Amino acid sequence: MSHKIKPILATILPCYNEEEILEKSFKALLLYHQELIENGLIDAKSFILFVDDGSVDATWQLIKKFTQKSQLVKGIKLSRNQGHQIALLAGMRSVYGKCDCMVSIDADLQQDYRAIEKMLNRYKEGYEIVLGIRNDRESDSFFKRFTAESYYKLMHLMGVDIEFNHADFRLLSHKALGYFVQFPEHNLFIRGIVKLIGLPTAKVYFDVKEREAGESKYTLKKMLAFAWDGITSFSIVPLKLITLIGFIIFLISIGLGVDALYTALFTNKAVPGWASTVLPMYFMGGIELLAIGIIGEYIGKIYTEVKRRPHYFIEEEIL
Ligand code: UDP
Ligand code: MG
Repeated sequence: MSHKIKPILATILPCYNEEEILEKSFKALLLYHQELIENGLIDAKSFILFVDDGSVDATWQLIKKFTQKSQLVKGIKLSRNQGHQIALLAGMRSVYGKCDCMVSIDADLQQDYRAIEKMLNRYKEGYEIVLGIRNDRESDSFFKRFTAESYYKLMHLMGVDIEFNHADFRLLSHKALGYFVQFPEHNLFIRGIVKLIGLPTAKVYFDVKEREAGESKYTLKKMLAFAWDGITSFSIVPLKLITLIGFIIFLISIGLGVDALYTALFTNKAVPGWASTVLPMYFMGGIELLAIGIIGEYIGKIYTEVKRRPHYFIEEEIL
């Protein structure tokens, strides 16, 4: 089944302290939306939604200004910083039912927004999900590239199905969005959830450029937390690993026990040394703490999920 030729498109941009770049992104994206409308590729009711993720700079003032400048712009402001994934969730829930398809993209427009046209083409062919896949990682620092690639490999080992080099630049149809909004989880890893939706999915390739202004809002701490969330929200391999390690150590201890018994009973060089007493203690202590820590991580997740607190509050909205 193919989709509408002229869909209402909602483009969502989560923004956290983006005053330095937002004006530029707004102009470029507005022009692009107007171009798409003029070329008859999207409906004139299409719009751009800026989600202010509790910024402490002039981001919200700028968004308000944009909404006054153009009918095509809408904005919502979260009451505090909730992180990129939650901001995106707020945007996605907000546009659900008001568009035929939506695209999410970073506010710094590092991802080539011109790929939206290619996404729309795939959507019109009938795809419900179109993933943006980056061509290369040349614009990234060595550190970012290395950590990102290792991360994909690690996720794969953990049995988590995510698309290589796909971040949060993607198109979802109304139908896919309808499935997405039913996921109630707090420990959000959107790209993992999108994989669970299971509707016809296409890929579109795009280039990434360097950030033109401002700094990355993904601090190392946020990045690590996000990476860890991805693993612990989608994989129980770390828990299984504990069992495996425990089993291996159990086997080794049986071996050591038999050896000790044999030495004590059948040889005369008994008097076990200090090392053989203390080393296993250190080792076991370490393994046990690690195991408890990992279990704790999951219990922490369960704790935040069962509280069912609201994900975010929309303090103001201009729709
Ligand atoms: N972002 C957000 N809340 C946060 C951190 C980031 O909404 O707490 C947004 C940010 O404004 C941007 C997107 O997430 O639109 C990606 O962030 P950034 O470009 O800084 O990350 P990088 O490209 O360096 O990975
Ligand atoms: Mg960026």
